[in-house]
Amino acid sequence: MNRQPIYLDYNATAKLYPEVRETVLRLLDTPHNASSVHTFGRTGRKEIEKARERVAALACMPAGQVIFNSGATEGNNTVLSHFKGQRVLISAVEHSSVLQAAPQAERVPVTPDGLLDLTALEALLRQETRPALLSVMLVNNEMGVIQPVREAAALAKKYGALVHCDAVQAAGRIKLDMQELGADFLTLSAHKIGGPQGAGALVLGLCGNTPVLLHGGGQEKGARAGTENVAAIAGFGTAAEQALSGLEHFAALGKLRDKVEQALGSMGEITIYGASAPRVANTSLFSLPGRPSETMQMALDLEGIAVSAGAACSSGSARPSTVLSAMGVPEKEARTALRVSLGWATSQEEIERFLEIFEKIYKRMG
Ligand code: PMP
Repeated sequence: MNRQPIYLDYNATAKLYPEVRETVLRLLDTPHNASSVHTFGRTGRKEIEKARERVAALACMPAGQVIFNSGATEGNNTVLSHFKGQRVLISAVEHSSVLQAAPQAERVPVTPDGLLDLTALEALLRQETRPALLSVMLVNNEMGVIQPVREAAALAKKYGALVHCDAVQAAGRIKLDMQELGADFLTLSAHKIGGPQGAGALVLGLCGNTPVLLHGGGQEKGARAGTENVAAIAGFGTAAEQALSGLEHFAALGKLRDKVEQALGSMGEITIYGASAPRVANTSLFSLPGRPSETMQMALDLEGIAVSAGAACSSGSARPSTVLSAMGVPEKEARTALRVSLGWATSQEEIERFLEIFEKIYKRMG
């Protein structure tokens, strides 16, 4: 058997755009310390500033508001660490890089569909000691649910809290306008949109507040020290441009995702998480009873198909997903959850073959 593997785990990390590969390789061939004033350095600086324009466009913000860093884990830690010792609210379905960076934070519950509970949020906001920050992701990485960030941010503003939004899984998937959302800090990651791993950005709103995590050489106007990863940042810029122009193509993935859910639903009694909430087009998190996720994932892997058993970042540990438990899903059921996430290179043929193989495995395990 000499079949191409089928990659259906874009939410863990997306396939690199060929245009990004080209950008990165071109820049790896020469040394670029963007702080140096010689020609090599100035070339690096130019590439970074071009990327800044492109990444800013992804969030509809002026370029000057973008601070490059190593990815969203760093961006989230930068913001949350800045509010240490103050009252902070976070949604119960945040990524571990928010949850772990703010262990003291109070968690805002979600509905059984995974949507932020706005009534519970307001009750927490209006308590006498007002929170300094609310952190809510725009799109959940596990089930693809789109959170009501605009409404949540408006409430936060009413009670004087600043707003952080982890928009990693929203960029390149839905229209992203930071000011329209009402966010004061926004985190992005290159590798979720077809860029290289190890590059990301913290986008600052117009509140004038600049959280700093890494101190040193004064790069990024003192907001993030460390020699810039020029090739990866430029690759991020190219990916941002590709992702922005590919928004319609991305929306069309919804048809393939729906086809997957329909076909799986005809095999057994399926539960699709977040199904009645607004979702991005590429993600499906589902459970089929009696089929443990890790066994299914391994069986699919043997056939060359990559999917995720719950959140990729926490898989490997046998812990069930914190997102599903926040939604009130019993642990036994959560242990059968699988995530399929499609991306720019996913084809109809791949989905058809995935469904054929899935059905074979599903029946074998029955
Ligand atoms: N936030 C979300 C919602 C994510 O999905 C991820 C990646 N799994 C991160 C943050 C962390 O991003 P990075 O890999 O760039 O550190």
